[in-house]
Amino acid sequence: LSLARLKWVAMLIKKLPLIPLTLALVCATSLAQQPSRTQADLSRLTGEVIWGGEAYQNLEYLTDRIGPRVTGSAGEAQALAWALEKFKSYGYANAHRESVEVPHRWERVSAEAALVAPVARRIDVASYGWAVGTPGEITAPVVPLTEIKREQFEARKSALAGAIINFTIASKVDYHFMAEAVRLALEYHARAILMPANKPDKLNNTGDLLWGEIVQLPIVSIAREDAALIERLQAGGGEVRLRLNVQNKIGGPFTTANVVAELKGSERPDEVVLIGGHLDSWDFGTGATDNGTGAMAVLEVARALAQAGIEPRRTIRFALFTGEEQALYGSRAYVKEHLNELDKHVAVLIMDHGHGLVRGWELQGRQDLVAPMREVIAPLGSLGVTELVQNPSIDTDHAFFVLQGVPAMVMHQDPKDYRVIHHAASDTFDKVDRRELLTDAAALAATALIIANRELRLAPRLPAPEVKKLVDETGMDKELRPYGLYPFITP
Ligand SMILES: [Zn+2]
Repeated sequence: LSLARLKWVAMLIKKLPLIPLTLALVCATSLAQQPSRTQADLSRLTGEVIWGGEAYQNLEYLTDRIGPRVTGSAGEAQALAWALEKFKSYGYANAHRESVEVPHRWERVSAEAALVAPVARRIDVASYGWAVGTPGEITAPVVPLTEIKREQFEARKSALAGAIINFTIASKVDYHFMAEAVRLALEYHARAILMPANKPDKLNNTGDLLWGEIVQLPIVSIAREDAALIERLQAGGGEVRLRLNVQNKIGGPFTTANVVAELKGSERPDEVVLIGGHLDSWDFGTGATDNGTGAMAVLEVARALAQAGIEPRRTIRFALFTGEEQALYGSRAYVKEHLNELDKHVAVLIMDHGHGLVRGWELQGRQDLVAPMREVIAPLGSLGVTELVQNPSIDTDHAFFVLQGVPAMVMHQDPKDYRVIHHAASDTFDKVDRRELLTDAAALAATALIIANRELRLAPRLPAPEVKKLVDETGMDKELRPYGLYPFITP
């Protein structure tokens, strides 16, 4: 540890109290003890993200200036064009679009509701995505159900015909598992379903219901306070009637794109570490935490690698996916397009768990990733990258890579209030803490570089039977079955 460096560290600590003291010290100490190329590069790279980083400003531009980015919307198109230019401005002449086919276009128009009996009261509602609206204004009795079970529908058969179903708050109906509810509601001639929002304070929820298929029944989120009012009125006896008018525009198939760029590896250019996040969002807020943070972290890693002049041994590729919110359309299209290249995908790192501080990585049930990832994150304790958890799920863009046997991980982050904010009107720039976003981006950058520079690959690509075993053992099959994506998935 040279005197000059000590002075430099002391200056940093004095002038810039924002950076954790430990970070500067640990970087300096590791450099002294283990003067490898990766260590020196890590210091420069994470320093670039934290001191020179543009992630926060870019997120502000993306959310405030461009705004919501529903797949197929003008906002999404504007974001794709802007991100492509950003990569180019950071020196990535190879930045390009890769086509993504989406089978249906959907656009929210309006949703209004009011109780007409036994009291007159305005009710806050919002349509779920990729669902039809009502045929103009309808007025109908509201019939409570507590479970998605055929016996319950059968028991209330006469009441349900022509009615609006309200799943009760206690029913805990999850909008991810609505296929059966929609089937039964259509069969019993209900006209719409109200679902209590999974959020407090009059917030409504939106989201995709049937993996990108158009739901042929209006499915409406209702503010929890209003859902509770309806339930109290129903408990009081007599008919509760609701006027409902939900209008959405539905169109045919269209082509959109992922934005992809890469920094070629200096020694093994054909081997790829892919880092990604989705650029599309829902439309109530501006998708700041879902997934502006992840997308802007990916863009920042690209910027910082170029700015710091780092030459990774393997190629680091950046992907801003679209259509994640419907059926992972973007990452699915990438997997299909790059099928012949997947053997060479050493790792996939996705960030899409919001705006909380990084904790580590979610390994998606791959026990064989634990030991090598322990080595990978060992130098990253000062960034807070300490935990390896499994958390297997298909909830974001890693899923189709996992199903192809590629080691694919998702950043494990402090959940903070993400469950409340994401998909809600409150998903806006003000929720994101600058220091936390920069730390997450630094952790993403460092993890990618360490994996790209390692002598050994993390783990092999699993053959199909091993993937099936993984899916069965982790319970991921339960998430895949309702969408017809089990037993095995070809993109
Ligand atoms: Zn997301």
